[in-house]
Amino acid sequence: MEEWGESDKSCGRCYKECLAGSRDDFMLEDKLWLKVNGGVSKGKLCYDCVEIGLGRELTMSDLKDVSVNYKFFDVLKEIPSNHDF
Ligand SMILES: [Zn+2]
Repeated sequence: MEEWGESDKSCGRCYKECLAGSRDDFMLEDKLWLKVNGGVSKGKLCYDCVEIGLGRELTMSDLKDVSVNYKFFDVLKEIPSNHDF
């Protein structure tokens, strides 16, 4: 049984496991990711290591507009719930 994708779940720098739903589970804008990841699109870095690699704190504009990042966006703080009852 092949354990594919394992390298994409933990940080390539500190080997911390980047759990789904945690703040270490996010996607950077492509250009920024390539910059911080040495020009390689594959791989994974945790939040802290990305900030270390960039030499600054991440901002919302560094993140892609994808669902995995919505936890960082204030705009989706309130999701309307539709109950049938
Ligand atoms: Zn790390």
